[in-house]
Amino acid sequence: AKDLGRNQICSYTKEMNELVRHRVELEHALRYGIERGELELFYQPQLDAKRQLIVGVEALVRWRHDEKLISPGAFIPIAEETGLILDLDAWVVHEACRQAKAWQDQGLSPVTISVNLSAGQFRRARCVPLIRDALERSGLEARYLKVEATESMVMKNTEDALDTMRQLKSMGIELAMDDFGTGYSSLSYLKRFPFDQIKIDKSFVDNVTEDPEGAAILRSVISLADTLGMQTVAEGVETMDQFAYLTRIGCDQIQGYVYSPPIPREAFEHFLQEDRSW
Ligand code: C2E
Ligand code: CA
Ligand code: CA
Ligand code: CA
Repeated sequence: AKDLGRNQICSYTKEMNELVRHRVELEHALRYGIERGELELFYQPQLDAKRQLIVGVEALVRWRHDEKLISPGAFIPIAEETGLILDLDAWVVHEACRQAKAWQDQGLSPVTISVNLSAGQFRRARCVPLIRDALERSGLEARYLKVEATESMVMKNTEDALDTMRQLKSMGIELAMDDFGTGYSSLSYLKRFPFDQIKIDKSFVDNVTEDPEGAAILRSVISLADTLGMQTVAEGVETMDQFAYLTRIGCDQIQGYVYSPPIPREAFEHFLQEDRSW
């Protein structure tokens, strides 16, 4: 039994070492990756449901490393734990503003670009100077930039978050509540925050055509949002049935594989150049 215990400890320590080394290597690679320009933005169109036109786009970061394209789920947590997230956020905001302005300068119809920020950006209005700087340098008008924040990001430091959001609003930037429905708050509570838009999480959208109770909840969310003057965007819409249903119950915008996954810049430009109706 003693030996067994020791073996377990040995293998545990070995795994821990590997884990730690892997993380250290990943952190190192990410740090230099950011400096060397290995980050890339992908773009996912957001459609006006009724008119079926692209009205917005969400910028989603990717890391091109060792000939692989790495998804944010694999490196954002490490970036957050190591503080690299500040450099990453800064790069994303500058690049998104620069790109949106470049599209306008090419004569493409203007769309709103949405960026995802990390939680720390809402503490003591950290993101405000960053965003101001990015708008100034790019020349993008503030009304074309949208900032997405999750419920947990704003609930944790309510006063700080409110202050940050008010500053962004006063600059003319729109705010979207990301992943709505995955937290605990009611819509009326959310009204304390100056959100322009609610992004209804994929988990709400998934069964909407089969689950009558889920559909009823969704209908009331959409109508309440409407009453409160907030737009609704359905995320993770994958089928035409979902698209049709969401449109019928008054959801304003649709984002999901049914129209397009997140795609590289050139591919998104093709979408913008084409006759944008579906
Ligand atoms: P999110 O902000 O909720 O982004 C939506 C995610 O859903 C994206 O994953 C997108 O590719 C995926 N998606 C969109 N439509 C569909 C669909 O129809 N079906 C399915 N199954 N998935 C769909 P992605 O790009 O891997 O991003 C994951 C998360 O990483 C994001 O969730 C966001 O929280 C975070 N993230 C992405 N880019 C950034 C960034 O630039 N900065 C920060 N701080 N976080 C980011
Ligand atoms: Ca988002
Ligand atoms: Ca989301
Ligand atoms: Ca989501």
